Amino acid sequence: MKNLMSGKNVVVMGVANDRSLAWGVARSLHAAGANLIFTYRKERSYRKISALLSQFDIPPLHVFSCDASDDDSIKNAFIEIKQKAGSIQGLVHSIAYAEKEDLKGEYIDTSREGYLLAQNISSYSLIAVAREAQKIMTDGGSIVTQTYIGAERFVENYHVMGAAKAALEANVKYLAENLGKYHIRVNAVSSGPIRTLSAKGTSGMNDLLRTIAEKAPLRRNVDQSEVGDATLFLLSPLSRGITGEVLHVDAGYHIR
Ligand code: NDP
Repeated sequence: MKNLMSGKNVVVMGVANDRSLAWGVARSLHAAGANLIFTYRKERSYRKISALLSQFDIPPLHVFSCDASDDDSIKNAFIEIKQKAGSIQGLVHSIAYAEKEDLKGEYIDTSREGYLLAQNISSYSLIAVAREAQKIMTDGGSIVTQTYIGAERFVENYHVMGAAKAALEANVKYLAENLGKYHIRVNAVSSGPIRTLSAKGTSGMNDLLRTIAEKAPLRRNVDQSEVGDATLFLLSPLSRGITGEVLHVDAGYHIR
């Protein structure tokens, strides 16, 4: 495992703090020898990332600002990444957003604005980011996004995020076909629920975690390190024959 990713430059988007799924991914990538480049949106995230990197003694290639809802911001970030790293071989898209009021109440009351916001940041951003990443994945590469079972079936209160994740998973397949000829693979990890900053917005989290601990084949929930290792697998040459896939890391709950 130690040298699995050595010499590979990987962009990690979506670390807000040490609970973020993307932080689990970053730790797995670091342990496998990857060179890490981070992007953040909020200044608060920048401060958290900087503190984590020094706490865990991880020297990043760089940390860049990037708002995934803004095409110019994405373009500028990848221009800077190219200047710093030359080419990249991996990209982790671990970004989602919906307004709190669109994650409760009656689904039929979803506003057009709230629906489109969730789609824009949580789904379309994968296309926008992949387009810029492709330009610097000159020798091929691997793109991995984070999805959730609410894309496949009803999950209480997941609402607009369910629709956004369904679109995200469709994007994974269409991008996988499109980018395969450039030797770029596109996959998703579908993690079980984990307490993070974003997950705070979904009500009923305690019930969900309890149900999974009772009903999942492994009779427990998953954590960031398991998402990190599975994402590492999809970024690494070990998964070189896999693209357009959604890999469930949910203690088997998806078969229930
Ligand atoms: P976090 O809150 O830790 O991470 C969400 C990240 O999204 C933050 O870093 C946030 O950055 C970033 N983000 C939001 N909007 C934008 C934007 N416009 N531009 C750039 N970045 C943005 O939560 P998670 O780690 O839980 O979420 C990561 C991914 O994992 C999401 O796609 C989520 O849906 C998915 N997931 C989470 C599960 C869970 O139970 N936690 C389960 C399955 C999937 P900032 O704070 O700087 O705005």
